[in-house]
Amino acid sequence: MNEFQHLAVPGVQGLDPYQPGKPESELERQLGLSNIVKLASNENPLGPSPEVIRQIQQRCTNLSRYPDGNGTELKAELARRMAVQPSQITLGNGSSDVLEIIARTFLTTGSEAVFSEFAFAMYPIFVQATGATSRIASALEPSSEMPYGHDLEAMYSLVNDKTRVIFVANPNNPTGTYLSTDSLSGFVASLPEEAICVVDEAYFEYVEKEDFPNAMEWVERFPNLIVTRTFSKAFGLAGLRIGYGVSGVRVADLLNRVRQPFNTNSLALDAALTALADENHIQASRKVNAEGLCFLAEGLTEMRLKVIPSVGNFVCVDVQRSGAEVFADLLKQGVIVRPLSGYQMPNHIRVTVGARRENERFLAELRKVL
Ligand SMILES: *Cc1c(COP(=O)(O)O)cnc(C)c1O
Repeated sequence: MNEFQHLAVPGVQGLDPYQPGKPESELERQLGLSNIVKLASNENPLGPSPEVIRQIQQRCTNLSRYPDGNGTELKAELARRMAVQPSQITLGNGSSDVLEIIARTFLTTGSEAVFSEFAFAMYPIFVQATGATSRIASALEPSSEMPYGHDLEAMYSLVNDKTRVIFVANPNNPTGTYLSTDSLSGFVASLPEEAICVVDEAYFEYVEKEDFPNAMEWVERFPNLIVTRTFSKAFGLAGLRIGYGVSGVRVADLLNRVRQPFNTNSLALDAALTALADENHIQASRKVNAEGLCFLAEGLTEMRLKVIPSVGNFVCVDVQRSGAEVFADLLKQGVIVRPLSGYQMPNHIRVTVGARRENERFLAELRKVL
């Protein structure tokens, strides 16, 4: 019992902390294992671009200076690439920072946020801390074409005059499911302008489907739309913390009032700029992922396990018994995956696509464990 609990604001009193993937170093210490494979946090097995590493080593001389609080250079380059104005961009300490800024800007006690069951676990945390209410739409049936995916009709039916924010993860984590261009654009168009629609595209760079939308192209058309992306996943910069949101200028202006002036650090700002320029590294990351995704899906299917078709850099699989137990058993073998009981998917685990030999090791250990 925490005796200070009653002192916290009501939203925080009932909050469960986010459970991050277990770090390799901790498992090493606990079990005295080496040769640990971490496939728990959807990180890029290739790491960042080698250019980024070179550049950071040089930049370490300037750490006594505050970063450029406006992120001028990075915003200019992002704006150029996406054909928007720099004033439409909000930089964040990871895109989860942007998601939290959105929640704090638009939600308070009495207002509501809508998102799907099995969606990204940070949404309810950000919503609840503001005192607002989460309205969670049932996901699509396991037997549907997009098992466990977002059901946009169910989400729409929860939108009312108290709705201020709607979170759509495309593709979604942990399921790996996605919404097509037609269905998502229709959904965004149907929303009242008073409801801010957030399309979270953390895995955008990985998706290879023809009918997968680039919601960034709709920002001009819908003044209540915010699209978020990150350098944590395909760009391999999860440890540096940098991401961004793109919206109309009026919404960006509001987000900028809530944002801390130095929420992104100088190394991350430079690294992101360099990472964007290394097209070869992104191509290589996509290729490794596409191959690994097939390899894992085939291996798991051979083991007669049901895999949710994924377009991200991870797969979600029904292990037909307690995912928490399978997670714990794999941990003893030095393989870290993510159990999904916290997502109300007690028999599923999520595994990140790693390098070839990491994927092989995971499949071999899972075979033993099961
Ligand atoms: C990983 C992830 C993010 C953001 O991660 P950051 O490291 O904070 O940029 C956002 N949304 C989803 C769905 C994710 O999986």
